[in-house]
Amino acid sequence: MSAGDAREFDFDLVVLGGGSGGLAAAFRAAEYGARVAMLEPGELGGTCVNVGCVPKKAMWLAAQVAERIELAQRLGFNVPCPELDWREFVAHRQHYIANIHASYRRRLDDNGIVSIASYGRFAGPRTIETGEGARLHAKHVVIATGGRPRRPSIPGAELGLVSDDFFNFSAAPGRVAVVGGGYIGVELSGVLQMLGSCVEMFVRGGRVLQGFEQELAEHLEEDYRQSGTVLHCGAGVRAVERDADGRLRVVDGNGDAHGGFDKLIFATGRQPNTERLNLEAAAIETDAGGHVRVDDFQNTSVERVYAVGDVTDRVALTPVAIAAGRRLMDRVFGGKSDACLDYDNIATVVFSHPPIGKVGLTESQARERFGDDVHVYRSDFRAMLHALADVPQRSLFKLVCVGAERRVVGIHLLGEGADEILQGFAVALKRGITLDDLHDTVAIHPTSAEEVVLMR
Ligand SMILES: Cc1cc2nc3c(=O)[nH]c(=O)nc-3n(C[C@H](O)[C@H](O)[C@H](O)COP(=O)(O)OP(=O)(O)OC[C@H]3O[C@@H](n4cnc5c(N)ncnc54)[C@H](O)[C@@H]3O)c2cc1C
Repeated sequence: MSAGDAREFDFDLVVLGGGSGGLAAAFRAAEYGARVAMLEPGELGGTCVNVGCVPKKAMWLAAQVAERIELAQRLGFNVPCPELDWREFVAHRQHYIANIHASYRRRLDDNGIVSIASYGRFAGPRTIETGEGARLHAKHVVIATGGRPRRPSIPGAELGLVSDDFFNFSAAPGRVAVVGGGYIGVELSGVLQMLGSCVEMFVRGGRVLQGFEQELAEHLEEDYRQSGTVLHCGAGVRAVERDADGRLRVVDGNGDAHGGFDKLIFATGRQPNTERLNLEAAAIETDAGGHVRVDDFQNTSVERVYAVGDVTDRVALTPVAIAAGRRLMDRVFGGKSDACLDYDNIATVVFSHPPIGKVGLTESQARERFGDDVHVYRSDFRAMLHALADVPQRSLFKLVCVGAERRVVGIHLLGEGADEILQGFAVALKRGITLDDLHDTVAIHPTSAEEVVLMR
């Protein structure tokens, strides 16, 4: 079926958006035998594959390699000063992404999913119109249209870039201002600094990574300072201006000017893609931020219309969108009437340098909920490679436990390997383990991970 086909079609399911959540829902529904159509105007895979997790992690890996080469030099390897041919690396990155596109395309064909390269909009509660006027009538509709970067409303905002633009870079800019201290700002700053840029971060709040364990976030700030990143915390940005030499100047919240930037990147949050959906035609409710309102089962305000992923106001992560989409289809087409995603205790990692990860409650969240019944255990150590190379970087792991039985309610890791270590311990936390369970587990030595089972 072509997008220009101005006829009417019937499907069991129409999915709006071919990103993480939409693809997961479409594949799962097709596995149950549903007749599925999916509309996606851009590249398959959405934000995650094209301008999010995947290219970001590729750049992080490049930065890790650069860091490793520096460590190698300190340890006696005779290797020249690392310099990345950015264009060549991007060619490897995009080849990897092209393989993901091809694999999705194959799976869509194999599952008999009708894929339409078009925006979709509501023409009625479960009637979707393609860009070229075809009308799809569906028993069920999933909205999975994700989100996009948001620029602040300040003078000169148009002079700055957003995270999508970062993936078009073909070289490391000399001096970069990154506005925003959330995970995207922290990740982009880390990569750019490690790959040769001089980065200055402008953070509105008192510190980076609000919502993460405070002690670890402060530790990470110190790591960033040591690597040469300049942090301006607590001021925000009031305006961006272009100087006579073409470079950018940032006026911070206190009125102080910081000039000489080749590029400025706003990492100041994201907004949901709902404007083009014509939600009014179906009376689908949104919240004040434009997110589609959903209940615990991903139901919108309209019967048999659902929403998953970043277009809702839930945890904006790829595995969350995927899990929500799959559970939803298990319920709608798989006969599992109770299936829904448990949004508690979702583990998350920031690919900073070094990485930081968390699952469960921070110490302050636990104290708010459990008062004095909170017990905190920490391990502050140097990973073996860093000790061998005699670099100052330290790891900091923290456990938050509650009650006499010391039930583990929070695990927070900063340091080499934190990104890979956390997943297994997240399973344990979700199963309700106690500190004794960790102590009963024999350590794997010598690793950083063993610190988690040895904390006292
Ligand atoms: C820089 C960056 C780094 C990230 N890193 C990570 C990470 O490391 N780990 C992690 O878990 N998450 C990460 N995320 C978040 C993750 O990318 C998102 O949570 C995830 O992609 C959300 O999936 P989704 O299906 O809701 O939306 P998306 O993946 O954004 O997909 C939505 C799709 O809908 C399409 N669309 C929009 N409007 C319409 C319409 N009207 N009709 C049809 N289609 C439409 C869009 O073209 C898009 O392809 C990152 C995000 C960014 C920006």
